[in-house]
Amino acid sequence: MEISHVPAERLEHYALAHLAGTECAELEAHLLSCSACLERLAGMDDYIAVMKTALSGISFETANTDSRYAPAVGAGDLEHATL
Ligand SMILES: [Zn+2]
Repeated sequence: MEISHVPAERLEHYALAHLAGTECAELEAHLLSCSACLERLAGMDDYIAVMKTALSGISFETANTDSRYAPAVGAGDLEHATL
């Protein structure tokens, strides 16, 4: 039996919502007919949820740094403003 299951990497991307629309549809179609992959995805979702929670706890420091550089005002404008 050679059913091509969804590769772990792709499942991971899907769980992280990084797949393009069409890829997503193909994967979902497979998931509908394949409980094995569905279970793998469920396990991954749990894992990713834990990861995200852990990361969001850690990333407050970098979030502060980002907000200095990220906004609509370019970094160059900010420099001029402070000079
Ligand atoms: Zn499968």
